Amino acid sequence: MVEPSGYAASSGGRKPRRFRFRPGGACTIGIAVHPERVEAVRADLDLNVLDTCEVPFGRSDQEALMAAVGEACERLVPDIRGVGSARAVPPLAGVGVSLPGIVDEERGLLTEAPNLLLDEIPLEVFSNAVRCEGPALFENEANAAALAESWAAVSDRRESLAFVSVSEGVGVGVMLEGSLYRGARYRAGEFGHVPIPGARRRCNCGSIGCWERYASQTALLRLWNARRPDLDGLVSAVNTGQVRAARVVRAYAAHFAMGLRNVIRCLDAPTVVIGGPVSALGEPLVEAIRTALGTSPMESPPPRVTLSRLGTHAAALGAAVLPWWRRFPCVSP
Ligand SMILES: [Zn+2]
Repeated sequence: MVEPSGYAASSGGRKPRRFRFRPGGACTIGIAVHPERVEAVRADLDLNVLDTCEVPFGRSDQEALMAAVGEACERLVPDIRGVGSARAVPPLAGVGVSLPGIVDEERGLLTEAPNLLLDEIPLEVFSNAVRCEGPALFENEANAAALAESWAAVSDRRESLAFVSVSEGVGVGVMLEGSLYRGARYRAGEFGHVPIPGARRRCNCGSIGCWERYASQTALLRLWNARRPDLDGLVSAVNTGQVRAARVVRAYAAHFAMGLRNVIRCLDAPTVVIGGPVSALGEPLVEAIRTALGTSPMESPPPRVTLSRLGTHAAALGAAVLPWWRRFPCVSP
């Protein structure tokens, strides 16, 4: 799993030899649970995606959700028959699962996952559904994505950042100088459920006007085509310069910026990363958000607003990094 990577500077005696992890030396599986689908990736140490799969399940059906988790895991477990052959598969080093709600490690529960339309679920139930050796590791979706974004940072893994995870909901993972900040009750970064000015839509959490009702992928696609939500269609319309598509992105960005301002003013992080499936819209989305944020003396100079390095699989890659992060919290790949 490790290989030599040269020598460090001498501090008087012989130069110490350096080693680094071999990116292809082992792989992990990352499973992301969404309201109606389970997404999974198999990835190497550099978070290169080796394989993916997606398994749909019926909404608010816990049994179907667990069956989907098990099937996704089974499909991606490396085929040990490949070992020793021309296409040997690296060994599996662990499984991580990202969940769209509060992951309460102390009580061993997934709670407050309003978009799943399910009650509290013991993490042990998920563990039993994961069909592979060793314990699975769990983390909130935005937290896991923030960890992976920090892990993938080439220049400085100690830099603070706020990761805005946008899928069916919106959550913010907070990395403070290289450490994940979960909060005293695992609820840090729940900006998706902070109301924005003038908003009246009812949220699945029971409140009115939550940011995620306006900034989620679901909200974006409702603006584009309420009858047939189709992210790929919107992406290609934006890329071919369709005027209505650009208007939709601007309208979405205006609402997005309202909640993002709360994130910026609360955290004062130097970097804000936007990730999740909507990142397929690329630079036009980020540009529209930067424009909508405008300039204000409170945000001058503005933070760096950028797209995630993780592409559209941020939540699943976030889960895939958990086994590495748990073992080597201070080690760069
Ligand atoms: Zn809410």
